[in-house]
Amino acid sequence: MGTSHSVTLDWEKCIGCTDCIKRCPTEAIRVHNSKAEITDARCIDCGMCIRVCKSHAKKAMTDSFEKIYDYKYKVAIPAPTLYTQFKKIRDPNVILTALKKLGFDEVYEVARAAEIVTEYSRHIMEQEKVVSPIISSACPAIVKLVEMRFPSLIPNVLPVISPKEASARYARRHLIQKGIPAEDIGIFFISPCAAKVTDSRYPDTFDHSEVDGIISIKDVYKLMLPIIKNMQPDEVEILQTSTSRGIGWAATGGEGLASQVYNHVAVDGIENVIEILERVENNKLDVEFVECLACTNGCLGGPLTVENSFVATNRMAKVKKYINSLGKTRELDMYRDNIELDWQYSLTNKQVLKLDDDMVVALDKMERLEKIFKTLPQIDCGSCGAPTCHALAEDIVQGNANIEDCIFMLREKVRDVAQNMVSLAGKMPPSIRHIDKQ
Ligand code: SF4
Ligand code: SF4
Repeated sequence: MGTSHSVTLDWEKCIGCTDCIKRCPTEAIRVHNSKAEITDARCIDCGMCIRVCKSHAKKAMTDSFEKIYDYKYKVAIPAPTLYTQFKKIRDPNVILTALKKLGFDEVYEVARAAEIVTEYSRHIMEQEKVVSPIISSACPAIVKLVEMRFPSLIPNVLPVISPKEASARYARRHLIQKGIPAEDIGIFFISPCAAKVTDSRYPDTFDHSEVDGIISIKDVYKLMLPIIKNMQPDEVEILQTSTSRGIGWAATGGEGLASQVYNHVAVDGIENVIEILERVENNKLDVEFVECLACTNGCLGGPLTVENSFVATNRMAKVKKYINSLGKTRELDMYRDNIELDWQYSLTNKQVLKLDDDMVVALDKMERLEKIFKTLPQIDCGSCGAPTCHALAEDIVQGNANIEDCIFMLREKVRDVAQNMVSLAGKMPPSIRHIDKQ
């Protein structure tokens, strides 16, 4: 595993079961010597392998909660998904207060920044600066998927920073304006998502992230639970600034709903996303806006969450209903001024699925690949450590595997060798053969 990803393997825990190789949407994993290996160039950090690994050998490298103590002024910027993780809690103020009781000095909601990003995105769409249909850039796993597998769609991707990043920029500027020294401020994103960890640590479209650390929802959940259980109603501070529009971003369709783009399609689950992007690529989708999210039910199904995504979707509806009727929010003028929301850099074609840069060599490899593929059993059993027979054929032409890695091909070879041995065993030296004949 290289250094530019958050998803990584716990070598000790991996039993080489091959479950993860079959579910990886970009065929980034192989099992060699009974251990899973992730190919850096193919990984989009969607976290699918984290979800499917029963041995808990795959994990996202988040920061420990203790890292907040590296800073004098500790700030939490929670993803709206956090509001759906606790049973019977409808009021985001309870959760935001619990974060403060946990040790943060201030909390700013990513959901509020999502509302501002929505306004700005609408403005860009109206200016028609991006090729239609516009593809949301909210899910960093999908942005990487486009770079890797659908590079022709790069001009369609909305070149706007994420609500997480916008929230961090607003927070830092607001606190500095209040007189807090910049070096004392530590901003921590409370994340449902592995891809967002990577997006903060190794941003592709801007120079430097304002997020100082990322703590998984799983980790803060354990710490918050006893605080929430013991919290008295009069202890709840009014800390919420967002409306249900921004909070809804966590679920599939939430961004489109907030943007009020009538002609839009919202799709979740990486296999479904691939199908929709193939349609967009082939001009077979007559919509203005495409919202794609790698996880089932959007960020509510993120790999670093605690709650089942369908249960979380039900809770999201209840939270939004509560906010719309009984919710209380605080006024904060920190969002008044404009901050930079555009990307600094464009996406680049990172197509790794091609066989060679040289077209002639690539065509030759393709021909050999197809020939090898035809000799394989084509049952995609995964015993060779590759997800499909086609992927093994590709690994062979790329010099990364042997045909004998296929258990069926190996068995055939062993059978051939055995037959040769039997036939050899039947052969007698000429001298004995001569005696036999007598
Ligand atoms: S799912 Fe992958 S990482 Fe987990 S034990 Fe199996 S091979 Fe190893
Ligand atoms: S859907 Fe949300 S949680 Fe899942 S990979 Fe995309 S941004 Fe992350």
